Amino acid sequence: IPILELKGISYQYPDHTAALKNVSLKIERGKKIALLGNNGAGKSTLLLHLNAILTPSAGHMLFKGERMTYKRIEKQKLRQHVGIVFQDPDSQLFSSSVYEDIKYGPRNMGLAPEKVKEAVDVAMALTETASLKEKPPHFLSLGQKKRVAIAGVLAMNPELLILDEPTAGLDPYYTKKIMNVLNAIQNENRTMIISTHDVNLAFEWADEVWIMNDGKIISTGCPTIVFQDE
Ligand code: ADP
Ligand code: ADP
Repeated sequence: IPILELKGISYQYPDHTAALKNVSLKIERGKKIALLGNNGAGKSTLLLHLNAILTPSAGHMLFKGERMTYKRIEKQKLRQHVGIVFQDPDSQLFSSSVYEDIKYGPRNMGLAPEKVKEAVDVAMALTETASLKEKPPHFLSLGQKKRVAIAGVLAMNPELLILDEPTAGLDPYYTKKIMNVLNAIQNENRTMIISTHDVNLAFEWADEVWIMNDGKIISTGCPTIVFQDE
């Protein structure tokens, strides 16, 4: 069964902007999915539904075949399996040092201290952030902040890892570093979704592409076929 399945999800923001219109999708285990679309297409809104930060206005979501009811306890459980890295790392980094920031998630999950340390060390190695661990996140470059934000979510070892625009605003040097991270953290148990404007990145990295426009998914499939049709 898929990790997550969306069935006819629509979402209106409080000001009545219709950001999602009848979206249905399946997220199969182990996939690397790239979500593409213009600014305002609804990508962030869609991603925020996947770990129940937003509750759909209509339609519903199945988590491992069970229908989400959006009770507090269910949302907490979902978020232990589905981690999201926001587009703006400043919204995610708030501790006095990189190490403390990465530690926050696994410690909150109630892991034993030695397990927390292990999870942080693994996450720092995969994201090449160990050399930054004493630094205040506030003073890092955007490319470094993005890697620290990824490390913080990775340290919770989510089955589904979502990254909203992981390379947006980065120069080629830091884009390459993020690509290295995406490749390093990939394994057969990890399902990943990234949103991006970068068609080349999607083509090279993804094994499934979703194309969004005006709140709707207009195309899905493997990159060679989807881009051929464009
Ligand atoms: P994308 O991530 O593809 O750029 P978004 O999901 O951010 O798209 O936005 C989808 C639509 O919802 C856009 O029309 C956007 O202006 C609108 N929108 C996004 N956030 C809000 C909000 N907090 N309140 C009202 N409208 C919003
Ligand atoms: P760290 O994660 O250890 O901070 P960085 O990837 O940020 O490592 O930087 C590693 C080295 O690359 C540093 O010496 C830095 O000066 C250099 N560097 C940083 N940004 C760029 C860039 N845009 N182009 C080329 N070299 C860079």
